[in-house]
Amino acid sequence: MVKITPIPAFQDNYIWLLHKDGHAVVVDPGDAAPVIRFLKQNHLHLDAILITHHHGDHIDGVESLLNVYPAMVYAPAKEHYSFPHIAVSESTEVHLANLNLSFQVLEVPGHTLGHVAYYGSNYLFCGDTLFGAGCGRLFEGSPEQMYHSLQRLAALPAETAVYCTHEYTERNIEFALTLEPNNQNLIIRAQSSREQRSQNKPTLPSTIALELATNPFLRCAVAEIQSSSKTNSSLPVNVFTAIRQMRNQF
Ligand SMILES: [Zn+2]
Repeated sequence: MVKITPIPAFQDNYIWLLHKDGHAVVVDPGDAAPVIRFLKQNHLHLDAILITHHHGDHIDGVESLLNVYPAMVYAPAKEHYSFPHIAVSESTEVHLANLNLSFQVLEVPGHTLGHVAYYGSNYLFCGDTLFGAGCGRLFEGSPEQMYHSLQRLAALPAETAVYCTHEYTERNIEFALTLEPNNQNLIIRAQSSREQRSQNKPTLPSTIALELATNPFLRCAVAEIQSSSKTNSSLPVNVFTAIRQMRNQF
């Protein structure tokens, strides 16, 4: 069995580390120091680094890790990276032999234009696209692109475990409750997230099922959310555009 551990970094990032039989893979190492510490403490060799997008808090640790471990780096083909890497795009298969895992690359533009997610064996590493009860900001892409990307993730099997890169769940739930104050699943999730955070535990991974039940950005066809979005249109993509804008001001 592969073990998956969140390594906290910066204010609210998680660097997800997967390991099995002494071999490890990290996703989006924005900082090398805590990763190297964890690898040394657990006598792990770093085989590979998966990158979802080009923001510094996801890649700034790569060079330092490569100075210590000759790891293979996988990064989106549609973005530019100064470190050596294998460029991945839609449907690329990333095979991690020592972990006995294969991930399929999904292009999910919106937060950045080249953003990718890695999906396989019921795991989803989605970077800054989907968050617990929320979604990433639109730094480069259009609302239409992000909406479409989120719809693709929403269509994955319900039991898929969702590994996001930031601990934003509590704040996202606060916002979601302003749109859907009577959503019982959301009320329950608010309580469980509060308990997890009060014990300094991550609220992640989530699941696609839980996101479908509580994440307003995946629920743009729900009447209450349409009405809370104050758009005249009932087109889900227009509702998405409106509530993403509201979240920016929240
Ligand atoms: Zn980002």
